[in-house]
Amino acid sequence: MVLHLSQGHLLEWYSEKKRDLPWRHTKDSWKILLSEILLQQTQVSRGIEYWIKLVERFPTPQAMADAEVDEVLHLWQGAGYYSRARRLHALACQVCLPTEQGGYDGILPTSSAELLGLPGVGPYTAAAVASIAHGEPVACVDGNIRRVMARQNKSLNPSVKEVESWATSTLFTNDAGNWNQALMELGATVCTPKRPKCDQCPVSKTCSGQSDAVSFPQPKKVKRKRLDLMCELRYDSTGLPHLVKRGNNGILAGLWGPRMEEEIDVDALSFIGEIKHVLSHRDIFVQVWLGSCEKGIDPSTVALSSLDQKILALGGRQ
Ligand code: SF4
Repeated sequence: MVLHLSQGHLLEWYSEKKRDLPWRHTKDSWKILLSEILLQQTQVSRGIEYWIKLVERFPTPQAMADAEVDEVLHLWQGAGYYSRARRLHALACQVCLPTEQGGYDGILPTSSAELLGLPGVGPYTAAAVASIAHGEPVACVDGNIRRVMARQNKSLNPSVKEVESWATSTLFTNDAGNWNQALMELGATVCTPKRPKCDQCPVSKTCSGQSDAVSFPQPKKVKRKRLDLMCELRYDSTGLPHLVKRGNNGILAGLWGPRMEEEIDVDALSFIGEIKHVLSHRDIFVQVWLGSCEKGIDPSTVALSSLDQKILALGGRQ
C-alpha cells in the first residue's frame, strides 16, 4: 500500500527550515528561470554567485537579447556546461521577438506548456518556473524528488512515468510552487543520497524504505567515455597566448582557447605535460605542446572554459 505524504508536515518543515536563497525572494519568472538553469549542473553555493552576476547584468530577457552571446559566455565562465549559456541567449532572443514572429514581446510566457517550447527548457524547468512564479498546479520531477519517491515507496528503479505519477498524486495544488520546492529541499538537505537524516524528516511516518534508505533508488551505471586531445599552446613575445574561437558544436563550442585537435603536427613544438579534465560522463586527456606565435590575445577579454584555464596555467604565463 502506498501511503501519501503528509502535506502539512512537509510544508511546515519547509517554511521553518528552508535555506535562504536569493531567488526565493522573487516572483520574477525570468530571475527564477535563471536560477533553475544555473542549478541544473552547478552547485548551489556557486550558483548564487553566478545568479547575482546574471541578474545584475541581464535583469530582463531584453537585456540578454540585446547582448552578444559572447558576453553571456564570458559571464558564465567557470560555471561549466556552456551550452546552457548559449541556449539561454537563444531563449531570450526568441522571447523578445514580436508575437507575430512566434515570440512573446519580451515577456516570458507564464504557462509550463509555452515555456516548454523555448530553447533549453525541459519538463522540469518549465514546471518549476510555472509553479514557483505563477502557482500553476504542475508537479516537478528532478533527481531529489526521484530519490524521495524511491525511498518512500521502497522502489529500486522507478521509471520517469512512475515518479511523475507519484509527484502529481502528492502535489499540493493550492501552493504548487512551495510544494515542489519543499520536496526538492527535502531531497537536497535531509533525504540526501549517502546519509539521509531520517530522524529529522517531516515525512518519515509514510516512508517504507527508511530502515535501508541508501539502497533506494539503485545507483545508475554511468559509462564513462575517454577523449584524447592534443593542444598547441603558442605564446607571442609579450607572453600572450594564441587563442581561437571554437565552432558552434562540441563540448567547448563557442568558447575561446588554444587550438586543440585529436591530432596536431608537433614539429617545432615541445611537450610540456598532460592534463586530465573530468566532466560528468567523460574524461578528457590533453597533451599540451608549447610553441611560439606572432600575436596573442589577452585571455581575460574572452570566454574560456576551466579546461582552457588549466592549459594556460600549465603554460605558466597567464
Ligand atoms: S524517512 Fe529518511 S528515507 Fe524516508 S523520506 Fe525521510 S529522509 Fe528520506
